[in-house]
Amino acid sequence: MAFDVAAVRAQFPILTGDGPVPRLHYLDNGATAQIPRAVLDAMAAHETTARANVHRSVHRLAEAATRAYEGARESVARFVGAQASQVVFTSGTTSAINLVAHAFGARLGPGDEVLISTLEHHSNIVPWQLLRDRNGIVLKALPATTDGRMDLDRLDDLVTERTRLIALTHAANVTGAVTDVARVVTAARAAGAEVLLDGAQMVPHGPLDVPALGVGFYCFSGHKMFGPNGIGVLWGRSDLLESMPPFMGGGEMIAHVSLEQTSYAAPPMRFEAGTPPITPAIGLAAAADWLSAQDLAGAETHLKNLTAQLIDGLSGMQGVSLVGPAGTQARMPVVSFTMDPLHPHDVAQILDSHGVAVRGGHHCAQPYMDSRDIAGTVRASLALYNDADDVEALLRGLREVRALL
Ligand code: PLP
Repeated sequence: MAFDVAAVRAQFPILTGDGPVPRLHYLDNGATAQIPRAVLDAMAAHETTARANVHRSVHRLAEAATRAYEGARESVARFVGAQASQVVFTSGTTSAINLVAHAFGARLGPGDEVLISTLEHHSNIVPWQLLRDRNGIVLKALPATTDGRMDLDRLDDLVTERTRLIALTHAANVTGAVTDVARVVTAARAAGAEVLLDGAQMVPHGPLDVPALGVGFYCFSGHKMFGPNGIGVLWGRSDLLESMPPFMGGGEMIAHVSLEQTSYAAPPMRFEAGTPPITPAIGLAAAADWLSAQDLAGAETHLKNLTAQLIDGLSGMQGVSLVGPAGTQARMPVVSFTMDPLHPHDVAQILDSHGVAVRGGHHCAQPYMDSRDIAGTVRASLALYNDADDVEALLRGLREVRALL
């Protein structure tokens, strides 16, 4: 049976066109995806039946809130094939990476090396630069190939016996290129290094067996996978989490506190100081459950077809250059391009007046833009509720932009 995109779309109140937002061609899912009714309902149900703080009071509302929060952790753990104790709730991918840069980074010192790539989002660059400035580590970067992939042929010369961590995106947010994780893990193992993967652009496409990837850390954000914002996940291998000191101090993360010293709780609570994002965690679990229940094989084919339709349409267009792989293999449904002589912001602005939401700019990936000598790209990032009409609306809008020039 063909993938029923209309049935998926109907579950997203903002996309139906009968609310306050008119029919919108929403192609900015890489920045934030929309939220289905099931997730909104789960959060509303929690707020109206079990709102209380967690792991503190003993009254029944507090116990219900604690059960719901820890239940959310179990659902999210199932979604990534992990144990609940390996799932740390954070406020998003950015805070998950910062957590690792502080807690794992605490044991790194002068001469230790961290390898990133030119294709990283700033959230997987700046925390390592801060660590370099704090601890004197050496920060190296894999270059990108001309078709917007990481140049993994350079692993041989960039990974050394001083490499402690290889921190890479699982799927690049500008080009959609998917990283060959097995190759990275092999190189890391040979050097005795750990691997962190930024899964922000990967996880919105379905559940994963994260432990089977062979990495040490995996990070993602709720708002890009049809959940609320303000919530994300750091998955960590148990031995790594157990060996790391806390990142932030406060309530929740302790075993015992005296005025002189503190002993810490076991992971994951060691890394969750203060009142956690309780309702967002419940929303994230609902999003994981919702996503797991979709026809994901159908969605994958559907999105490949839309990506091909988009790439085909762009290929014939005067002044348009693709920034990223030319095909649909090993790439997520993210398509970036430039439109000479316009700035990407201007293209995005004009498309908005045609009811098409895309992102124009550097996409928090300035090093990659610099490596291409461009100011930015226009980026269309697709989700399973997008349809051929959305892609056609984008192409029509671009043809009209062209006609204005
Ligand atoms: N990593 C990648 C690949 C991203 O695309 C993004 C967001 O666009 C992030 C990290 C940062 O995510 P957040 O802002 O949710 O922390």
